[in-house]
Amino acid sequence: MKFPINLCQPDGRKSCGACCGIYNFKNNSKSHLSHRLCRNTRSLQSRSSSFESVVLFHSAKYRAEDNGQAKLFQTIFNCEYVGFLDENRLRVGCLLHPSLHRGRDYRDFSFYGAELCAGHFCLSYYYLTAEEQRLVIDTVHDWYLYGLTITDIDLVKGVFRVLSDRVGEAIDPEKVGSREVLASIVRTFFKLKLDWPYRPNDGNRFGKYVFRGDEYRQVSVPYEKFGLKRSFFDSIFVAYGSEFSSSDEIMKAERKMEELVEAFARKYRQV
Ligand code: SF4
Ligand code: SF4
Repeated sequence: MKFPINLCQPDGRKSCGACCGIYNFKNNSKSHLSHRLCRNTRSLQSRSSSFESVVLFHSAKYRAEDNGQAKLFQTIFNCEYVGFLDENRLRVGCLLHPSLHRGRDYRDFSFYGAELCAGHFCLSYYYLTAEEQRLVIDTVHDWYLYGLTITDIDLVKGVFRVLSDRVGEAIDPEKVGSREVLASIVRTFFKLKLDWPYRPNDGNRFGKYVFRGDEYRQVSVPYEKFGLKRSFFDSIFVAYGSEFSSSDEIMKAERKMEELVEAFARKYRQV
């Protein structure tokens, strides 16, 4: 399958490894994830024996550990072969990929096998428009936030929609990406997914999903219970995993969104 934009490895500044399970841990902070990715990278760089033996040894040591108690959603496999692809640790990806091994594909040693790994394209390839994809690629330059954002279809579509609505036309990602004043506002929307104050930090949540072992449910905001109408920002609130405890909190969150949208629209018209 050919797609015009490579979402997995869009440029030299960042990349995504979400479908290899990098975020599927109860502790999925950047430092925790980085630690694990560094561990894999270092371990697979060992030259103590043939690469095949190193791969098998690595798997025997870490596969079970990465798929045990620390895992968030049991059904998703956490691959032990994902790591950093460059010395500066900007890009994450597959350490068994043929591009790293003079064309030899070692992904057959993985849980999914080379064919499945090579043929997998997540839903963002199909459901995000090229403009929505570009909005993320041109504004986020950090692997951790990039992977969390590019795979969050509701968040990306929600942000694109509310900004376009306020500006009065579909926003131009190229214009946004080339003006830091605009890019930083868009990034703020995406970053709020990391530290949204209206989401409980109970270790069982990931974006709009709440996990209990093999079961999961989607977050929804009970506006009626608080005597309010569905918010214009509802899809963003859901993507953030919101759990509001009062109408005041919802209105405060809406004001925060309004401030950002207004600031963006003002600058967008000026530049
Ligand atoms: S989640 Fe999507 S963008 Fe990320 S690595 Fe997988 S296929 Fe690529
Ligand atoms: S072997 Fe497959 S699942 Fe594992 S890191 Fe490589 S591409 Fe991802």
